[in-house]
Amino acid sequence: MDLSYSPAEEAFRQKIRKFLEENAPKKALGEMALAESKAWQRKLHEAGLLGAAWPKEHGGAGLTDMEQAILSEELTRAAAPPVPGQMGIWWVGPAILKFGTEQQKKRFVAHILSGEDIWATGYSEPNAGSDMFNTQTRAEPRDGHYVVNGQKIWTTQAHLANWFFCLVRTPVPDAKTKYDGLSVLLMDMSAPGVEVKPIRQMTGGSEFNEVFMTNVEVPMENRLGEEGEGWKIISQALINERSGIASGMRFEQSLGHLVSLARRRGKTEDPGWRQRIADLAISTQITKYSGFRSTSDAIQGRLNPHLSAAMKLYGTTLSQRFATSMSELLGPYGQLYQQHDQAPEARKVGQRLLYERSLTIAGGTSEIQKNIIAERILGLPRR
Ligand SMILES: Cc1cc2nc3c(=O)[nH]c(=O)nc-3n(C[C@H](O)[C@H](O)[C@H](O)COP(=O)(O)OP(=O)(O)OC[C@H]3O[C@@H](n4cnc5c(N)ncnc54)[C@H](O)[C@@H]3O)c2cc1C
Repeated sequence: MDLSYSPAEEAFRQKIRKFLEENAPKKALGEMALAESKAWQRKLHEAGLLGAAWPKEHGGAGLTDMEQAILSEELTRAAAPPVPGQMGIWWVGPAILKFGTEQQKKRFVAHILSGEDIWATGYSEPNAGSDMFNTQTRAEPRDGHYVVNGQKIWTTQAHLANWFFCLVRTPVPDAKTKYDGLSVLLMDMSAPGVEVKPIRQMTGGSEFNEVFMTNVEVPMENRLGEEGEGWKIISQALINERSGIASGMRFEQSLGHLVSLARRRGKTEDPGWRQRIADLAISTQITKYSGFRSTSDAIQGRLNPHLSAAMKLYGTTLSQRFATSMSELLGPYGQLYQQHDQAPEARKVGQRLLYERSLTIAGGTSEIQKNIIAERILGLPRR
């Protein structure tokens, strides 16, 4: 990938900058009502700026690698909020495009980009997290439907979503491997028998939930791929999820906040802090260009499990390093949850410090990413 910008690309940058100045909400995603954040997603979609890697016939933007890189830079520069349908865009849409029937593509794909449909992801269960082969939620075929019974947990956005990308176990008469019988259903969250219960987090928020399914009827035509193809689908979706989590982090913004905080706290002449900030600045550049590489892979239709594991591990650890550094700069104020005259940033830093602990767990824990890196990149023996 040639990283210098042509005049046409610079013109594209100016167009994006103007669009964002005129349209980007000046709020974080968490401060917006769902209708407001959906309207923001719709605007981006209508401007042809969502779904760079998706075919145009399904509403994709048809951007080049460089245009997508410029768009990411400008979204960061404008501090534009992310869109509410990120999970759908990062991994559900690509899975439907790859494994779905024509009917499923027509029904779901454009609605994912426009934000009409918000998706939640149902893999984890009380006894199946890293080990998804332990999935217990059952889908029994009956009269043209699957009847689904089971429980999911840690389901991000289930309270906002109207569709569920749900891993289930379908019956296999003579299962031979742990993969047999895993299947994916596209489930309407408003179907009778679906119950969502929020889980309160240590940040005070409730972004994830338990989802209980009792005799939920899912039409057979809402199975994605074949019965038993669940692991193939999910393992590819996880690659997109991990790259998505890492590339969605705006480290340049964090670096800017950290530097201005260091200035205000009189730490920019301190050799220890200078070293630490320089180190974080280098890591920020590493994640930025890895993000471009993974976007380029997505646009070219390549799946890169090695890069996504490395990016997820590195990016989520880096976000914790930023949060810890900001908290240390603030001293005792970094622990505060409420506003304080001496440290107006304290509330956000305290929240961030707690929230970012979760990121090395979501989407597969750091230990799982290390296993992938050890076995597949370094060629170490499998445990
Ligand atoms: C913020 C957040 C959002 C989430 N959103 C969703 C969501 O939308 N949908 C969803 O389905 N899930 C979601 N999850 C759940 C997440 O995917 C699981 O928590 C994660 O996969 C770990 O599973 P577990 O919690 O069952 O822990 P376990 O798998 O029981 O792991 C416990 C510990 O053992 C370690 N461990 C397990 N296996 C191995 C191994 N083979 N080698 C080395 N160490 C190992 C783990 O690293 C961990 O430290 C979310 C989690 C978080 C924190």
